Amino acid sequence: MTGSWDPRLMAGRAPAGPPRLRNFVGGEFVDGGSRFTKVSPVTGEPVFEVAEASRSTVDDAVAAARAALRGPWGRMGERERAEVLRRVADELERRFDDLVTAEVADTGKSIAQARTLDIPRGAANFRAFAEIVATAPTESFTTVTPTGGRALNYAVRKPVGVVAVIVPWNLPLLLLTWKVAPALACGNAVVVKPSEETPASATVLAEVMAAAGVPAGVFNLVHGFGPDSTGEFLTRHPGVDAITFTGESATGGAIMRAAADGVKAVSFELGGKNAGLVFADADLDAAVAGSVRSSFTNGGQVCLCTERLYVQRPVFEEFTARLAKRAGELAYGWPADEATATMPLISHQHRAKVLGHYDLARAEGAEVLTGGGTPTFGDARDGGSYVQPTVLTGLGPDARTNREEIFGPAVHVAPFDTEDEAYALANGTEYGLAATVWTRDVGRAHRAGVRLDAGIVWVNTWFLRDLRTPFGGVKASGIGREGGVHSLNFYSELTNVCVDLS
Ligand code: NAD
Repeated sequence: MTGSWDPRLMAGRAPAGPPRLRNFVGGEFVDGGSRFTKVSPVTGEPVFEVAEASRSTVDDAVAAARAALRGPWGRMGERERAEVLRRVADELERRFDDLVTAEVADTGKSIAQARTLDIPRGAANFRAFAEIVATAPTESFTTVTPTGGRALNYAVRKPVGVVAVIVPWNLPLLLLTWKVAPALACGNAVVVKPSEETPASATVLAEVMAAAGVPAGVFNLVHGFGPDSTGEFLTRHPGVDAITFTGESATGGAIMRAAADGVKAVSFELGGKNAGLVFADADLDAAVAGSVRSSFTNGGQVCLCTERLYVQRPVFEEFTARLAKRAGELAYGWPADEATATMPLISHQHRAKVLGHYDLARAEGAEVLTGGGTPTFGDARDGGSYVQPTVLTGLGPDARTNREEIFGPAVHVAPFDTEDEAYALANGTEYGLAATVWTRDVGRAHRAGVRLDAGIVWVNTWFLRDLRTPFGGVKASGIGREGGVHSLNFYSELTNVCVDLS
């Protein structure tokens, strides 16, 4: 299968016809249903033919996962499973170039980003959870009994069972492995469904699992769409014990309804409308550079990206002018070009949605400081799904532009006067995923962590992650926390054992 990962795919070209990507069930690659075509975001040309998993393929995948739990995998201890995870990380590193090709072909992101962020984090997720599961303690209490004796209580971790893993297209390998690694660390078997827009790196991951000696059926991959397709077949499946999902808040609602029938456990990492607060005492160079990163990384297609910036009035004019200038200078380029600083959106459909938001902002009365449309190249990239990085200003907090997630390279900038006002503005949406604060005031830095309704608050940085820390969102941005021991708590069941010692 290695031959499928021809580097020319990264430039949106399938040299000898698009390679076929298949489902991975019970340790075998299988077709199972109809096919769909995945096109390049860079050129709009077909890059992969993908086998869509039918309902019976999903049934087979769930059955294979269940069978694996009854086999040697189900008898392995934590240290042995940690060893398997380390072998997966080693194999991911060995397949580094194929993974870069797969990820760039699917998303159009720059090779530089895939090499430094997406693929290394895939391997890091397996190494981190190998460490975490091998060292995590469980609780123990000595209890005084009614007769004055003693009883010993301790907790035992057990796998949940078959876990459905459903992920989006923006950081495909990173987000998939963030869930698969702890699920396997805890001894579960998984059936994963990547986004229909990004089938490729998950397919390499299936090859990696086989090569690393993960027992057949422990990792199953099903390709396809959401409603009335693979995703829904999986989330409604009676053989699935728990669902871990990353994606839009509205999809989370649909999955929650599907999960209600079997009372399945859910962990949801959902959408955001993240605020950045720039105080007048901030290091302005750092705040500008950091805000360019936080608004435009990955074409603005990161759930953690800043879409609303609130800037204290004394520095508002200067900050906004510098931000708009830097955004307008972000270089387009082919994914392989070293200077490339932005990327296409994932699809024409998503581009239409983002351009609709640009139109909405204008209709609401926004001033467009830079961008607001599509670039033209005069080459094959005109068939791709690029938009211009965009900086807006002039709208109030109730404008839809300031409340709805755009998920593209767009940010609105508005002034504020007091710290209280800044928190009220930041907290004024239905979302609560991430917030970023730029200040030199140590007291304010800590206050912001308490006052902001967000699952993660960054101070003078953005997207700096320690994989042991809790990650998730409040309000419509999610349910539950993953990361470190929080992942172990979702991917395992704790049984309390109470022994009367008298
Ligand atoms: P999406 O919700 O459209 O799709 C995500 C996944 O769910 C895909 O695999 C899709 O096929 C599947 N799906 C869709 N409908 C389904 C259904 N009814 N049943 C089962 N599966 C279904 O999201 P997207 O457009 O792929 O990704 C962008 C969204 O993801 C944004 O809202 C972004 O904020 C969010 N996101 C959140 C985080 C986080 O950690 N909180 C991280 C990345 C992305």
